Amino acid sequence: MKLKSKTNSIFIDGKWHDTEGQKTDIVYNPATLEPITEVAYGGKTETEEAIAAATRAFKTWSGMTGRERSRILYKAHELMLEDADRLGEILTTEQGKPLKEAVGEVKGAANFLLWYAEEASRTYGEWIPSSIKSKRLLVIPQPVGVVGAITPWNFPSSMITRKIAPALAAGCTVVLKPAPETPLSAIEIVKILEKAGMPNGVVNLVTGDAEAIGNTMLENKAVRLMTFTGSTAVGKYLMRESANHVKKLSLELGGHAPIVVFDDADIDKAVSLALASKFRNNGQTCICANRVYVHESIKGAFNEKLTEKAGQLKIGDGIEEGVKLGPLINRQAMEKVQKHLDDAVSNGAEVVCGGDKWQGRMNGYFYQPTVLSNVTDDMLVMNEETFGPLMPVQSFSDEDAVIEKANDTDYGLAAYIFTETTSRAVRVSEKLDYGIVGVNDVFPAVAEAPFGGIKQSGVGKEGGYHGMDEFLEMKYVSMGIDS
Ligand code: ADP
Repeated sequence: MKLKSKTNSIFIDGKWHDTEGQKTDIVYNPATLEPITEVAYGGKTETEEAIAAATRAFKTWSGMTGRERSRILYKAHELMLEDADRLGEILTTEQGKPLKEAVGEVKGAANFLLWYAEEASRTYGEWIPSSIKSKRLLVIPQPVGVVGAITPWNFPSSMITRKIAPALAAGCTVVLKPAPETPLSAIEIVKILEKAGMPNGVVNLVTGDAEAIGNTMLENKAVRLMTFTGSTAVGKYLMRESANHVKKLSLELGGHAPIVVFDDADIDKAVSLALASKFRNNGQTCICANRVYVHESIKGAFNEKLTEKAGQLKIGDGIEEGVKLGPLINRQAMEKVQKHLDDAVSNGAEVVCGGDKWQGRMNGYFYQPTVLSNVTDDMLVMNEETFGPLMPVQSFSDEDAVIEKANDTDYGLAAYIFTETTSRAVRVSEKLDYGIVGVNDVFPAVAEAPFGGIKQSGVGKEGGYHGMDEFLEMKYVSMGIDS
């Protein structure tokens, strides 16, 4: 895929700013480390302009009917699906994930547009029966206002639509800041919305200096809600700084997902889904498995199958046919995997598969799919998010004890269990301190369900009608009437 050397990436009030002659940032292909294009490096000025445009546009956009807003979202959904293959290729080129996963992500991203197009005309209010005869009590849902959206590089397409589709459906306007590593998918989504007929100023895009853009959003009173997906550290910063103007927040932060495989599990299913969870997007998924607990009665069979299959995963440029493991996003990501591996090995873990960088033909940050055994609870890999293809496996014998271990973390995003017993599935799901539990399932993120963490994994939900509620204020109107 060949792009122009400079790509316009700042979109304010319906106009693309020319990147030529501006300060720029290079976007690299993480598989080859070759530059793909340069995008604008915006900051405070552009963000202020974008917020001003979103504030002006809010008046008309919020005044439109849900049905009017949904027409544009339906159109955008259609355009995105029609172009899914090309958008997938762009995504793989800037992010590294295998093309099949990238096209899948684009289709998933389009699904958020469809779901919220459907929801746009269903923001029901309430009529509360009053205890006083001469009163009538109403609840009217109204859009929050201008939304500041900050998105990560691991899902450059779906994390955007998951935030902006419900915001737009609710009647909010948006200033979007994508991750500097992956601005190209964001640009394509904004172009789609433009083509679908989005009025000027409703969606604005600013690429560039993360801190300057973020701080400008935080300092500006007009931005009423910050929606963010990324690290817990940045999430906490946004939460602290949002206090100044008491902004609403929706945060999707880190996780440390356990997978628990019980003795009554279907072993083949558990192995293939554990692998899918861990190695999808090269382990760079906030809900991907970080640690695996296998019942001791099946650990031999489980480990043997897991190791064999992990070793067969094809590594390489995600654009190539059959590749299952692309590159890691950057050098720091690679260093973190190495740090977790070295810490585990020096404390007695055994490498049963992989365990090193991958020396392929490409320059990117490739790492072998790695499985560890003999891991102990105090190792970094058992406590910190690795965000890479490292899979520690530990055995257990007691249900209550493994639930305690699974819950022993400050994170609370996703947890997974494998069991063929309904009572156990229900009992354990109820006891896990996580916002999401997958039972014989590792792909819980769908447009129609509420995705979100508890504890230090975040606040708020994305997806489902719950995801739309984040962008609505419930106005209560109390009316005195002559009775
Ligand atoms: P990761 O470690 O996964 O890259 P980050 O939290 O650093 O997670 O990044 C997620 C998003 O947050 C990206 O768009 C990034 O540019 C943005 N970001 C990082 N630092 C800040 C900041 N201080 N203020 C606002 N946004 C930030």
